[in-house]
Amino acid sequence: MGLVVQKYGGSSVADAEGIKRVAKRVVDAKKNGNQVVVVVSAMGDTTDELIDLAEQVSPIPAGREFDMLLTAGERISMALLAMAIKNLGHEAQSFTGSQAGVITDSVHNKARIIDVTPGRIRTALDEGNIAIVAGFQGVSQDKKDITTLGRGGSDTTAVALAAALDAEVCEIYTDVDGVFTADPRVVKKARKIDWISSEDMLELAASGSKVLLHRCVEYARRYNIPIHVRSSFSGLRGTWVSNEPQGDQQVEHAIISGVAHDISEAKVTVVGVPDKPGEAAAIFRTIANAEVNIDMVVQNVSAASTGLTDISFTLPKSEGRKAIDALERQKGAIGFDSLRYDDQIAKISLVGAGMKTNPGVTAGFFEALSDAGVNIELISTSEIRISVVTRADDVIEAVRAVHTAFGLDSDSDEAVVYGGTGR
Ligand code: ADP
Ligand code: ASP
Ligand code: MG
Repeated sequence: MGLVVQKYGGSSVADAEGIKRVAKRVVDAKKNGNQVVVVVSAMGDTTDELIDLAEQVSPIPAGREFDMLLTAGERISMALLAMAIKNLGHEAQSFTGSQAGVITDSVHNKARIIDVTPGRIRTALDEGNIAIVAGFQGVSQDKKDITTLGRGGSDTTAVALAAALDAEVCEIYTDVDGVFTADPRVVKKARKIDWISSEDMLELAASGSKVLLHRCVEYARRYNIPIHVRSSFSGLRGTWVSNEPQGDQQVEHAIISGVAHDISEAKVTVVGVPDKPGEAAAIFRTIANAEVNIDMVVQNVSAASTGLTDISFTLPKSEGRKAIDALERQKGAIGFDSLRYDDQIAKISLVGAGMKTNPGVTAGFFEALSDAGVNIELISTSEIRISVVTRADDVIEAVRAVHTAFGLDSDSDEAVVYGGTGR
């Protein structure tokens, strides 16, 4: 008997009908002779609603209480799904992340899984149950506090359980038919990818393709767990993500895997930094001490007359306030003039292992943006990715232009988006 882990995202369990539809799919997997572990997200936009609610009560809520609040969303779905499955005549038991043995570090709001001890899940399965687990949450090893894994973290729960239970596959059910060459909400002509390497998927995820979370792909790559991303609304085969293609998975020899965009970041510019050794170190040590992750960094050439330079970096909007406060506190010690904060930016990235060996990709990318009249503010590259920062207002046009320029537009049907609000 095989063991499968299935994860259903918020849009798949958005309402009672959705939960009943998912229950049928889960029961079908069980009837096919599998042991089934199901990871669920909070219903619809519940997590966002809980965040809004917390902000109304306190502008900077304490991490511990914030996590306690957010985990309530997944608890609702897990219990309802277990009820719906029982209603279909099958045995199911729901478990919180803590009960399922998801052990994390103690960094609230973005905890990392450090161990998974799924003893209770094994027992439930061996007794013939379908096990339902609340995604996105765990318990900290030292303080035994409830933690959350960061937005979209149910994907990581699913892969971590799949690894710990030695599952054959981790199926990620969502509101589109798989991983596409661009976000199908933005590019109707996006194409579904049959198979994508973990390497390219990691870069897409890190660049904002939220169909899979970066940490989940990282985890799957490390433990060699194949992921099948597919829709919970259709019976279609989706996209396989793995280190190597298997069986009949079709490999496209495209230079570019896809275009990703991200509007969740902001740009901070530290103005008037003395151009001498140790200044950048002091700025980024301050940011690191505030536990803020940064993305791109650029330093301008210093103006010879003043000996001063500007340093800009991007970071998640959600961490903007923390970073600005931390820098303001160190203003005297670091010795810069002022700070500028800009949250009207977008990042657009082109990803593909083929760019390592194909000259002209960078030129083609910049030409496509220029033809669309889009101005570039920052640039960063890796071996298999080029990213630029532009004005947020330009993002849709820019993504479409780049998608078309690299020949990624599908010539058949439009990509289907079955649900969700895209929030
Ligand atoms: P879930 O609630 O199932 O976790 P998410 O909203 O987190 O779903 O992720 C699915 C969404 O990811 C899609 O609705 C789509 O808008 C978005 N998305 C972004 N980039 C891509 C891509 N390259 N392929 C497919 N979907 C993408
Ligand atoms: N409910 C959480 C979120 O909205 C986790 C998830 O859906 O994966 O981020
Ligand atoms: Mg998600």
